[in-house]
Amino acid sequence: MNSPTLIILSVALPIPINRLFDYLPPKNYPLSQLQIGLRIKVPFGKNTKTGLILELNHNSNIESRKLKHAETVIDRTPLLTNQDLQLLYWAHTYYHHPIGDVFMSAFPTRLRKGQPGELKQVPYFQLTTTGKTIKTQKLHKAPKQLALLQYFKAQASAQSHANIAAHFKLWRPALKALLTKNLIEETSKPSLPVKQLTKQTPLQANTQQQQAIDTITAHLDKFTVYLLEGVTGSGKTEVYLQIIEKVLANKLQILVLLPEITLTPQLEARFKQRFSVAIETYHSKHNETQRQNAWLNMQKNNSAILLGTRSALLTPIPKLGLIILDEEHDSSFKQQEGFRFSARDIAIVRAKMLNIPIVLGSATPSLESLYNVAQKRYQLLRLPKRAGNASPPHLALLDIRNQKLQEGLSPALIQEIKNTLAKKEQVLLFLNRRGFAPTLICHGCGWVAQCPRCDSNLVVHYQQQKIRCHHCSSEQTLPKQCPACKAYELKPLGLGTERVENVLRSLFPEHATVRLDRDSTQRKGALEQYLDAINQGKIDIILGTQMLAKGHHFPNVTLVVLLDADSGLFSIDYHAPERLAQLVTQVAGRAGRADKKGRVIMQTRQPEHPLLNTLIYHGYQAFAQAALAEREEAELPPYSYQALLRAHAHDQHIPLDFLNAVIAIIDQYNRYDVLILGPVAAPMAKRIGQFRFQLLLQHKQRKYLHGLLKELLPHISKLKQARKVRWSLDIDPLDLY
Ligand code: ADP
Ligand code: ZN
Ligand code: ZN
Repeated sequence: MNSPTLIILSVALPIPINRLFDYLPPKNYPLSQLQIGLRIKVPFGKNTKTGLILELNHNSNIESRKLKHAETVIDRTPLLTNQDLQLLYWAHTYYHHPIGDVFMSAFPTRLRKGQPGELKQVPYFQLTTTGKTIKTQKLHKAPKQLALLQYFKAQASAQSHANIAAHFKLWRPALKALLTKNLIEETSKPSLPVKQLTKQTPLQANTQQQQAIDTITAHLDKFTVYLLEGVTGSGKTEVYLQIIEKVLANKLQILVLLPEITLTPQLEARFKQRFSVAIETYHSKHNETQRQNAWLNMQKNNSAILLGTRSALLTPIPKLGLIILDEEHDSSFKQQEGFRFSARDIAIVRAKMLNIPIVLGSATPSLESLYNVAQKRYQLLRLPKRAGNASPPHLALLDIRNQKLQEGLSPALIQEIKNTLAKKEQVLLFLNRRGFAPTLICHGCGWVAQCPRCDSNLVVHYQQQKIRCHHCSSEQTLPKQCPACKAYELKPLGLGTERVENVLRSLFPEHATVRLDRDSTQRKGALEQYLDAINQGKIDIILGTQMLAKGHHFPNVTLVVLLDADSGLFSIDYHAPERLAQLVTQVAGRAGRADKKGRVIMQTRQPEHPLLNTLIYHGYQAFAQAALAEREEAELPPYSYQALLRAHAHDQHIPLDFLNAVIAIIDQYNRYDVLILGPVAAPMAKRIGQFRFQLLLQHKQRKYLHGLLKELLPHISKLKQARKVRWSLDIDPLDLY
């Protein structure tokens, strides 16, 4: 028995065990200062761990003499509000993910490791008096220094490393030189002008934009999910900016979530040009100090707007008044490892708890969101026309059956490219497969180069003379001789971007071609360099993978080509048609954004395919309605709810035994007939030497599926088979691999 005066701390720790751990307060710590939500250091095994106090109790299941004292309490006041804690608790329950892992994921790395919750001072720089007056000819031999100096001349206030890095590559030596020459000096953080919220007058909204703005701003004090559907270039961002202005006027903060790839320096600059309030960004290219500062500046209400990726979702924002989530259909909002959450879905719950509006934007809304509109849970706002003068692109299918292809290019397509180049306009070709060819095959015996560790072919990378697995790090030198029959008959089969690049260069030698894929843009700054060259009109032909589909605006591109529209049509994942339609629509949106009309050509061997035809002749909305009807027929989400239990191990029978043991438990608790599909081998049954199996659980009612999971999970972790496998649970899986 524990005494009633005793205080026991129940602490969430960042480990994959689903429980809290009890500790006594640190010795001699004033008990009146203990609070829920404080970070604390505790002994754990041989180490010290940082956790979060979630409960203060008078008793524990553990005898008090066995309880250890915590080491130190880190915070004076909690960094998270009660509402933040509530949201995290909701996420822990909904995703059935270990409690400590969920709660600690709200913090950036350093705070998670127990660093004090204080802003790190970062240096700011400004022009010296000499710097302000120097004749620029003096720096002619140092173009980088000159560019940097001119950047400083154009700024109203002092700039940090992060500001500079958003505009320049390899800027450190130039900055150092300017400091040495006494043209620039270090200073402290500039205080921000607060008299006025905006620096730039908003654009005159068109009728649809104004309608969207008015609808949303009429009810800024209540929870509504708005789905802002507008084709690329229809002026969604302008709508966001004008709503944000209204929310700022109420002295509230704003969270803007974007996929990594669309959170570009250009977008950041657009926000900073419009508003004079402090704006933070939070994404993977920032270092730990920058992330911690952005997080704390929002938490302390020093800054008003946070632009961030999925990982910014749980940042504490005490005066949050609006959430915007752009490209809501994008699968990067789903975390695919560890704590597998949907940033979109948690953002909606967050808005609901705070009773504030949330705006989901997309040119190609997800089927779930369109379903929620039909169910009257979300309110649809549409921007059907492009802003300014740009007109929508014209889409066409190009039948390539019985055509003589030159490395994937049909004669009709080659002619179209020629015509476009002759008009001095740019061409964008899209192929979602990097490397030279996806397969290396022997024409003597039919041998195919396969990855020894994965169920997958090795991809030919001709430039580097390698064959490489795209799922693990395996690679070999490109062989000349077949290892099976010893013939010298090895041939690359199929198309990759490298191969298409070669044919484009030989067909159009006097035009500049650039290839954008993960291989060609590995070097830091390479992508930005290519994008600059494209925007300056130095490039005529742009070839790339899905990296091209989002975020980048190419105003002089008037012809967009999908070289292989069929590749997405025959996947076993029921999400595949939706993804293909989104991709096609997004790629099409890259064309003719300015005053020139764009054309989109899709090469296909399936010109009668109903999906492609609905999409091309009736548009994305019609496609989505047809696809939803198919899902309803098949009782697939959003007409039902799913959870996917994945397991993998070195040995094939181990994951299978494990999943069968899980089924045996399910059978005891399955009162509401949750549908159990499997165990089956994962679509990619072997990956990085691991055999992968899965079990899909599905029910028409969410509460029955989740009820079963809740009963099931404690038993799963106790299974003896669970010790030998790695397993994970994915709620609302977006991809069945
Ligand atoms: P989206 O976010 O939907 O892609 P943007 O807001 O970026 O669209 O707008 C696309 C382009 O149209 C931008 O160059 C923007 O400045 C311009 N634009 C947006 N709204 C208007 C408007 N009301 N009048 C004139 N130009 C506009
Ligand atoms: Zn052979
Ligand atoms: Zn592999």
